[in-house]
Amino acid sequence: MSVQLEKGAFLCSIDTELAWGSAHREKDPTEYEHWDSYGRVRDTIERLLALMDRYEIRATWAFVGRLLIDPRDDAQTSLYPENPQPANVHHTDSRFSEAEYLDRWYAPEILEMVKSARSDHEIGSHTFSHLVFNELGYSDDQFEQDLAAAQKHAEALGVSLKSLIFPKNRVANVATAARHGFTSFRSVPESRTAKLPSVPRRLLQRLDAYLPVPPDVSYPKRTEGLWELPATYYYRHAGGWARWQTNMVRTAKLKAGLKRAASRNAMFHVWFHPYDIASAPDMLLKPLERTFAEVARLRDAGKLDNLTMGQLSESLPVS
Ligand SMILES: [Zn+2]
Repeated sequence: MSVQLEKGAFLCSIDTELAWGSAHREKDPTEYEHWDSYGRVRDTIERLLALMDRYEIRATWAFVGRLLIDPRDDAQTSLYPENPQPANVHHTDSRFSEAEYLDRWYAPEILEMVKSARSDHEIGSHTFSHLVFNELGYSDDQFEQDLAAAQKHAEALGVSLKSLIFPKNRVANVATAARHGFTSFRSVPESRTAKLPSVPRRLLQRLDAYLPVPPDVSYPKRTEGLWELPATYYYRHAGGWARWQTNMVRTAKLKAGLKRAASRNAMFHVWFHPYDIASAPDMLLKPLERTFAEVARLRDAGKLDNLTMGQLSESLPVS
């Protein structure tokens, strides 16, 4: 059952994973289309955090737990032997030094960057190993172990994980997440065109991306003991067909989402990966800056809140 909000809300959730986002693929990860962007993620996050500080924007940073391990520290890597270690298995490419390669898999310093930002961000979970529901190797038991490892590792870092983002947005085992201390998760509803055959569907998706059509907004729902906080806008990388999208359209869509959320007392929940922005940071940070400025303006006018997933969940009534 959906819940009406007292005021519109802007949420931003960030799937922070680097190479773990491609770990489930058969392909050599160095051939993966975002491999180069992973190398620019640290710089991009630094710039993004500075923008968020400037406009006092709070986001939910959902980390893959393994990203935060130091691979050179045997004590840390041996803590979780039950989980897969694709990082080591795949290092066969002579084009990259081992250090360069491991940099794409392990980045404990990113957590410190987010923690030391002035804005009060939330540290959430994108699971421990980016185990994807319905893909090879996924079982209910493994998911259970994975979430237990995520919480155990976060606890060692002084963090209590409350908000969960499922790998590839494949929502599953919500009750398991509730047992492991989570209070909310993000879903991404099927688009309006999802039921169409593939050719018209892709055509409409691109058309939607190229035109300043306002994105949907959403409402929190109670699902198996957790708050489900649907995201309705993916702020996409600038690769492939999306390279033709203009900043004018990007900005118009983001601002239209904010306006709808404010006028309908709804959520405008935007999501992306740091590598999306790192695909073309100079270009993609600009619409985000304009959006953050607009959030600040609406917030100061009392028309919109900016909350993390955990903060929004805490503010909702559990009946
Ligand atoms: Zn992911």
